[in-house]
Amino acid sequence: MAEIRTTCAYCGVGCGIVAKRTGERSVDIKGDPDHPANRGKLCSKGTHLGETVGLEGRLLHPMIGRRRVGWDKALDLVARRFCQAIAEHGPDSVAFYVSGQLLTEDYYVANKLMKGFIGSANIDTNSRLCMSSAVAGHLRAFGEDIVPASYDDLDVADLIVLVGSNAAWCHPIVYQRVRARCDAGAKLVVIDPRRTETAEGADLHLAIRPGSDVALMNGLLTHCRAEGLLDGAYLERSVAVPDRFWDTVSEGSDLWSVARACDVPAADLRRFYELFACHPRTVTLFSQGINQSLRGTDQVNAILNLHLATGRIGKPGAAPFSITGQPNAMGGREVGGLASSLAAHMDFAPENRANVQRFWGAPTIAAKPGLKAVDLFRAVGEGRIKALWIMATNPAVSMPDAGAVRDALARCPFVVVSDVISDTDTSPFAHVRLPAAAWGEKDGTVTNSERRISRQRALFTLPGEARPDWWIVNEVARRMGWADAFAYSRPADIFREHARLSAYRNGGARLFDLSGHVAIGNDAYDALAPFRWGGEALADGVYPTSDGRARLVPVQQVSLTAPLSKWPLTLNTGRYRDQWHTMSRTGLSPKLARHREEPLVEVHPQDAVAFGLRDGGLARVSTPQGASLFRVEFASGQRLGEIFTPIHWTDRQSSGGRTGLLPRALADPHSGQPGFKSTPA
Ligand code: SF4
Repeated sequence: MAEIRTTCAYCGVGCGIVAKRTGERSVDIKGDPDHPANRGKLCSKGTHLGETVGLEGRLLHPMIGRRRVGWDKALDLVARRFCQAIAEHGPDSVAFYVSGQLLTEDYYVANKLMKGFIGSANIDTNSRLCMSSAVAGHLRAFGEDIVPASYDDLDVADLIVLVGSNAAWCHPIVYQRVRARCDAGAKLVVIDPRRTETAEGADLHLAIRPGSDVALMNGLLTHCRAEGLLDGAYLERSVAVPDRFWDTVSEGSDLWSVARACDVPAADLRRFYELFACHPRTVTLFSQGINQSLRGTDQVNAILNLHLATGRIGKPGAAPFSITGQPNAMGGREVGGLASSLAAHMDFAPENRANVQRFWGAPTIAAKPGLKAVDLFRAVGEGRIKALWIMATNPAVSMPDAGAVRDALARCPFVVVSDVISDTDTSPFAHVRLPAAAWGEKDGTVTNSERRISRQRALFTLPGEARPDWWIVNEVARRMGWADAFAYSRPADIFREHARLSAYRNGGARLFDLSGHVAIGNDAYDALAPFRWGGEALADGVYPTSDGRARLVPVQQVSLTAPLSKWPLTLNTGRYRDQWHTMSRTGLSPKLARHREEPLVEVHPQDAVAFGLRDGGLARVSTPQGASLFRVEFASGQRLGEIFTPIHWTDRQSSGGRTGLLPRALADPHSGQPGFKSTPA
């Protein structure tokens, strides 16, 4: 059979794959040597994708309760219940909770239905949990959600700083590129409270106190200013500096105060400053350790301030670089799949609302941002949401305080779940379940961390009655009375419209612009090669703000409270190398299970002794939100007083290891991203 070029199902690195079907539901997978993101390489998860394409556990038919029904009956019911809730309680009484697993075309249709036709912005995504602090930081600094970097920057950087990222496990192909550059002489600094595999390979590891990143970055910025390392010409031309900015960031930013705030040796801090000072070509990669914090947006802006003030942006090998977790978090951001944006990188300003409404020919348009994930499920629990549609995600496991999310779902009058898997932890709360197409069956585009749009292509025919997400949303929209606006018959129709909206009355004001693709034909769409939008964004130092200049944002370290005596530990959570989210796909691969067979609580040996724990024994981890059992692993790479558990295990795999029950449902005030990294435990 012919080889098909597609894109990996998992992380935001967005690796290209060459797939060759070997049977009805089997496929050989290898890395695509021509894809710029990975140049033929794949990590363990991508390599074993072929083990996960069977039909075990699949939802193959529409279901109302436990009863199998036809598509018409299920879709009619969904449309009727949403219309009824809107008629009785208004458009803000309904909500969609979607996913970075959706393709851009799926996302586009869902966003259009909610914001333009229902007239609410209550559509949020699990990407809120992943990178919304980076989005909010980009908006504050650049005026638009721009990632001003590419993987090519890594190939010419002289210093690579990884902040809050265990890239060796979570973005392995990016990490291989980092390693290759380090082998050629570049220096690597890792800033992470844990000594991870990534930190083991660094020239310098700063195991800072969790949440002290602003102090660290402000300290470095203050040092750069004192040493004459700011780029005066760039600041003059391209950056607006607010009044009292320097007073704010320099307060408490002397070396000794920063060392104390971050709880690292002053000598290590000095070495970091020196490395930064003598390597103008610096890339700072940041990920969930920065984003998943109650001060995530400030932490992002502290990094952006540093790069803007030293002119380390828009040049080869010099950039702040947010690496996204999910395969299509970026595509979701582009269509407006976050409750905080309207569409195509536009906010809710009156002229944007008017333009988007006109473009869509919509009867209405959302007037204001909608509920972000944590607030959305809170509203469900308070009875304010009467109909909720969850697409391609498992919030009963993945949301913070997942026990409260389950209680909320149980009280919701009408819940729709469209998913690939039949029995997830969320599906018992669904009144209607709709079978969605899986990776290898669906067809569309995704955008990776470096703004590169690639095609995901179907390898198999749709099994059972499974349908693509865009088709399902389209059919519900038609039944709600908007058949003309939802007349798509293929993903290419949606992509063309998405491209036209990106260019509509843009006038070069936004960098997100797919105007080169508005007339793309069906065959050209099928053959579309990976491409980056925005070119070398920001290379000319002109930003998409009213005056063309970026903004420094005065951020200050907030005081870090000591753990409460009843909760003497701090819980950090994250991924394992070979698992993905709630393991609905990676759990199907026996080879991937070998890396970590059980959910472990990693604990410093001194803490373990203090709590009477045995290496390999069991420990119950409790927080004010919940408790769960974990296998104990002594880990000297943990800071004293801090423990770590993985996010992957669910009720379906184990009665323990339920990390989702433990974090607080608290979020960053700017981005709404929950703080998963420092729960009192
Ligand atoms: Fe897939 Fe990410 Fe691994 Fe690439 S690095 S193969 S995108 S999981």
